[in-house]
Formats: sequence, structure tokens, C-alpha cells
Amino acid sequence: MAIELFNFYMSLFKAYGPELVGSLILAFSIGFFYNQSTIKGGLKALCYAFYVLAFKNIILMGYQVSPLVSAHFGYRINIYPSVVEWINLSLVCISTALFISSALQILRFIFSSFTFSLICSACLMAAGFLIERSPEFAKLFTILPNIYISSAFLGLGIALVFVQSARQTHALRAIGLGFLFLGFYYTQAILFETPHTWIWQAIAYAIVLFLSLASQINLIGTYCATLERSILAERAKRDLIINASPFPILISRLLDDSILIINPKAQKLFNLPKDKIPTFTFSNYFADSVKRTELISRIKRENTIEDFEVQMKDPQTYKTFWVSLSTRVIDLDGELALYTTFKDITHRKEKETELYEKASTDSLTGLFNRRQFETMAHKEMNKSWRYQTPCCILMLDIDHFKKINDTYGHQAGDEVLKNLSLHLKANLRDTDILARFGGEEFIILLAQTEENPGFIVAERLRDSIENMTTIFEDKEIRITISIGLAFSKYFDSLNAIIQGADDALYQSKENGRNRVTIYKPSNSTKNSMPKPKPLTE
Ligand code: GH3
Ligand code: MG
Ligand code: MG
Repeated sequence: MAIELFNFYMSLFKAYGPELVGSLILAFSIGFFYNQSTIKGGLKALCYAFYVLAFKNIILMGYQVSPLVSAHFGYRINIYPSVVEWINLSLVCISTALFISSALQILRFIFSSFTFSLICSACLMAAGFLIERSPEFAKLFTILPNIYISSAFLGLGIALVFVQSARQTHALRAIGLGFLFLGFYYTQAILFETPHTWIWQAIAYAIVLFLSLASQINLIGTYCATLERSILAERAKRDLIINASPFPILISRLLDDSILIINPKAQKLFNLPKDKIPTFTFSNYFADSVKRTELISRIKRENTIEDFEVQMKDPQTYKTFWVSLSTRVIDLDGELALYTTFKDITHRKEKETELYEKASTDSLTGLFNRRQFETMAHKEMNKSWRYQTPCCILMLDIDHFKKINDTYGHQAGDEVLKNLSLHLKANLRDTDILARFGGEEFIILLAQTEENPGFIVAERLRDSIENMTTIFEDKEIRITISIGLAFSKYFDSLNAIIQGADDALYQSKENGRNRVTIYKPSNSTKNSMPKPKPLTE
């Protein structure tokens, strides 16, 4: 019984196995490969054709097995052999139609296979119907499926061997040869009763499979080479555009700041020879590291930054220059990069600085002028009031300066003003703000200074000026100054504290000059030790 069953299954396999397995493998392999191809439509039809062929074999095997199954479950199904023959024929018609439409698509005779395959399989079925009915040809009906399949394979083989598709010709020819083998096998199966048919059939399918796999490998290689060539061409085009740009362009990797691309204009801007480029990262080009951190934190938030003014440097010589840069995050060959363009604005910045200095300083003494003092003092005083930190304003005026001019001349007076400025500057801290308030009047803001230490500073200044001499045309000129001091605690505006210092200065003058007076809100003023001294040479 077991041997009988084995023999039964063996006969089933011999009859349907090679075609079933061969078609399935071919359908899978063509389906897997078709994405890389430029003849997608044709290969899709080919793939479906093999699936239909495999399905046909499953149906036929099912028909053979059905008596066993129904006997096992204890009932009988009656399927007429002619029904099975018609099912077989119709599936073969569909797959033949798909094979033909695949060939025509590969040859570019048709562009859509669905309608064509439908009409074609209907025609093949009609032909089958006519043959079965015709008394002369009726005996052909049983071999009709094989006739259809063999002509489909031969047709497909011829079509692929003569295909003229620019990139895939060789690969498709090889597959075409395989189909010719299959076609020959089916033709000889119709004509001769060969022993061991199934072995020949398996060999024919194996040949197609081998040739189609070899072609696919070849096609994938061609596809990769084409892809690589087009990527290289794209890169060359991109590099050409970047290098030809009239603006400096630098592309740096966001992750580690290394430079990926720098065009000749940017190389010129940063004064870098080509071989030195890999030595530096983008951050090495920034003269101001604080600004660089600001730029990076902004780019992370905004992705694009336009006209960011920053001082940069030649990383070799540290020579600085100003640029206005625009930058954005881009995806360069799969990694995030910063695409930055630069505009050299050094000339404009120098002009701006020059103008700013002109507008904010006094040309004779080089000290800040009154307007600049007020701007800076505003900030400082606001800080002082907000954080309750003390500060003092000193108002200084040269005593009897008119006499100096009258005695030694205006030029000598100018010399005294310059010398006094240098002297004051040398005796103050960097955090203090010293300015020429007008004429022979000076103003000083002593930052973070209490009233008494402020008084000590004022007294020290007064004392040192008293001992200062200005040499003009061999003459020694000596001056004294009067100072008014106002302490921030008693005032709530800059104007008020300046007025307070001015009032105290007036008191110093009133009380005999060459002295420091502290403004007291009660209007009573506290005077320093008076040190009147005549103005002498
Ligand atoms: P007091 O002690 O009351 O301050 O007397 P003073 O003579 O210093 O005061 P006054 O306001 O009468 O005169 C100030 C003089 O300073 C008059 C002006 O010619 C002179 N002066 C103002 N600016 C300049 C300057 O830039 N150069 C020179 N050489 N003199 C100047
Ligand atoms: Mg004056
Ligand atoms: Mg004066």
C-alpha cells in the first residue's frame, strides 16, 4: 500500500513537479529582480505568467489527489475530466497571453499588458474551442496546452534574443536563450514520446533558472555601475557649481566641524593653500569663540541663519577680518553639514568703527565725549539701582583755567587738557568711566564705589593733579581742580545725579576751589580739607 502511494506521488511529481517548481522559482526570481530593471512592465507580465503556470500545476495535482482526499473523508466528488481539461487550457491561455504580452512589452510594441493579455487569452480560448469542435483537429485538443506553451516560450526566446535595449541587451539575450531551450523542450515533448520526460523538463527549467540568475547578477552589476557613474557625474556637477561660485562657500560636517568642501573663493578669503585645508576645522576660522557658540546654538534652533556678522581669522597667521555669513543645515551625501557663504565686510566694519569712535570720543583728549558718557553711564546706573550696588559720579573743573589760556595761550591750555586727561586715565580703574563733559570740565563714574572710598579717590585725584606739571615751550604749568561728588543712593536718575555732582562742584568753587565736596541731600555739604594754593607755573 505504502509503495503504491509512493509510486502514485512519484508519478504526480514527474508529471507536474518540474514545471511547478521551475515556474515558482522563476516567478520569485524575476519578481525579486524586476525593481532594478528599466523594463518593469515586461518583467511583471513574465512573473505573473509563471505564477499562473505554477497555479495550473497545483490545480492539476489537486485534481489527481482529490479521490484520495475524498475517500479519506468518506465522500466522493465527481469532477469530469473535460472540466479539468478546460481549466488547464484556460490557465495555459492566460499564462501564454502573459508571456506574449511580456515579449511585446520588452520589445516596446505595447505599453500596457492587462488589456492585451485579456484579449489574447480570450482569443486562445476561442481557438481551443474551435479546435475541440472541429472533427479534423479535435485530436490536437489534448496537446493544445503544450502547443501554446511551447510557442510562447519560443516566441519569448526569439524576442529576447533580438531585443535592443541599450543597457540590458546581454542579460536579456541570455534569458532569451533559456526560453528557447524551454520552447525546444516543449516542442519535442509534443512531437516525440521521450523516456524520462520529467528529467529533461527539469534540466530545461534549471537552464533558464541558471541563465536568468546569471543575467540578474550581470544586470545588478550594470545597474550599480550606472548608479555609481550617475552619482559621480552628479558630484562633479555639484563641485563645478560650488567651485565656479563668485562667493566664498565652505561646507563643514556638523558632527565634528571638519571641512568637507571649500571653494577657491573661500580658500582665498581664509588665505589657505589646498594642502592645509584638512589641518583646520571650521571653528578654527572664528576669531570670536563666543560668537561661534552663539551661531551654533542659533543654527540648532533656526536651521538657517542670514547675515550673521562675525570676526573671523586666517587660522595660520591669526590675521582677523569681518564677514557677514549666511549658513544653513544641509544633507550632504547622507550626513548633516553646514553650508556657509561669506561676504567680506572688513572695510565697512572699519568705517563703522571709525565713525563710532569719532562720534563717541573727544578729538583733543581722546576721552569719551558727553553723549557717549551718558549712554554708558545710563547702563551702569541702571545696574547700580537694580542690584543696589553703589556708585559715585565725580564732576571735575579746572580752577581759573581762563587764566592759563590768557597767560600761556590757547595752545598751552590744550596741552594742559591733554595732560590732565592722561593723568586722570592713569589714576582710574578700567571699570570707571571717564569723559570730557565740555570745555575744561570732566566727569567720572566710579563703578561699585561707596561714598567714602569715592571721596578718597576724588581726593587722591585732586592731590595728584595739584602736583602735576605740564611743560609747554619750556614753561612749567601747574593747575588745581575742584571736584563735586554725588553718591548714587540719593538719586533716581542720571540727570539728577549729574546735577547733584555739579552742585557739589559749585560748592567747591564757592568754598575756595582745589577741593572735593560731597553732595548731601540735606543741602548741607561736607567739605574736604581745604588746600588752597595759588595757581603757579
Ligand atoms: P573757574 O575756576 O571758576 O572754573 O574759572 P575758569 O576760568 O576755569 O572758568 P571759566 O568758565 O570762566 O573759563 C573756562 C575756560 O576754559 C574758558 C575757555 O576758553 C576755556 N576752554 C574751554 N575749552 C577749551 C579748550 O578746548 N582749549 C582751551 N585751551 N581752552 C578751553
Ligand atoms: Mg568750567
Ligand atoms: Mg574752570
